[in-house]
Amino acid sequence: MRDALLALDRNLREALAASTEGSKPVDLDEPIGRLSRMEAIQQKEMASANRATQQARLRQVAAAPPRLDDGDYGLCVACEEPIGTKRLAARPETPLCLGCQAARE
Ligand SMILES: [Zn+2]
Repeated sequence: MRDALLALDRNLREALAASTEGSKPVDLDEPIGRLSRMEAIQQKEMASANRATQQARLRQVAAAPPRLDDGDYGLCVACEEPIGTKRLAARPETPLCLGCQAARE
């Protein structure tokens, strides 16, 4: 599980590093058409939403190893019930069970 978290941490950092370029401010002085300017702004918004998701995941990944050490890992931080093994396999960094996650969204 620690290995999975380390691999995830590395993947997310790489994805964030790679996406830095795409989230530069849109240069509105660029002589591009109105439509492509809107597209550029939309793309930038999507890229930064993506980055925000990745950064939130990265924070959860960073918070997981201490929980492994404490023996709290795999227990939901909200209801303290075990998090399903399928969910943990898909999202090893998650601190919440499916029910609590759904309740927060
Ligand atoms: Zn829960």
